[in-house]
Amino acid sequence: MSFDRCRICGGGEAVPAATISGCQYVRCAGCGVERMARYPAPREIAGFYESGYMAKRDDNPSIHIHFSKEYREAYFAEKDLTFCDLGIEHSGLKGKRVLDVGCANGQFLEYLKRYGVEAEGIDVSKEMVGEARKNGLDCRVMELSDMQGRYGLISFWDVIEHMTAPREALVKARTLLEPGGELIVQTPCTGTISGLFGDKWLYYMPVEHIHLFSQESLFRLLAETGFAVVSWVRFGSCNPKGSIPDLNKKVIDTIAKRLGIGDTIALRARRVEN
Ligand SMILES: [Zn+2]
Repeated sequence: MSFDRCRICGGGEAVPAATISGCQYVRCAGCGVERMARYPAPREIAGFYESGYMAKRDDNPSIHIHFSKEYREAYFAEKDLTFCDLGIEHSGLKGKRVLDVGCANGQFLEYLKRYGVEAEGIDVSKEMVGEARKNGLDCRVMELSDMQGRYGLISFWDVIEHMTAPREALVKARTLLEPGGELIVQTPCTGTISGLFGDKWLYYMPVEHIHLFSQESLFRLLAETGFAVVSWVRFGSCNPKGSIPDLNKKVIDTIAKRLGIGDTIALRARRVEN
């Protein structure tokens, strides 16, 4: 098996993690992060988000609903819960400059707007940013690396796993944060559940999901890039809505959350001063 060197730690040792439609994921022996064995070329990634991204998402019934109007209320309720779990007060965000990285169609900006908080978003998808702007949201097509300015809060909702260079993204985010500024990161989390599902784990999504972190590897990367985790929560159990009866899903999701083994992690981290 051949694979590229890890772009998180630079390590060259890895073991097979999963194979999805002929695409291999490996787990780095150095940092524990799972990654696509062969990193997709920049043009392959750009092509993925360039056009028809929403339609591609529609092919995955468990995911596309995140962009539908029907899902909006469920999305808002989920964010309310996550804010509560992480101990974030909406009122504390007023007057702060907020940047949402990978804002897609602007759902998080719209969510904050409900609480009177204005935020800016950036995304690489013209199609998604177009949708957001139609709704009057402050979004731009821009790479994080090209950003300037000072922010009180930067959010990465389900985006760090899409990046070829998460370490550089976090380093850049730190430079954009004002002293004491905070970061929100939500991403799939490998562990008990991904181990149980194996190749069928929902979040092995080649080209889209390039890096998949364990809690330990994510916390280590945050520490190395100048962040201290303030609070975190893990939820979800790889059973998308509609795949199993609602009641079973609720029970399994509740157990996963209680045990702290959910396969999604959301966390709040503070910029550490040198
Ligand atoms: Zn590594």
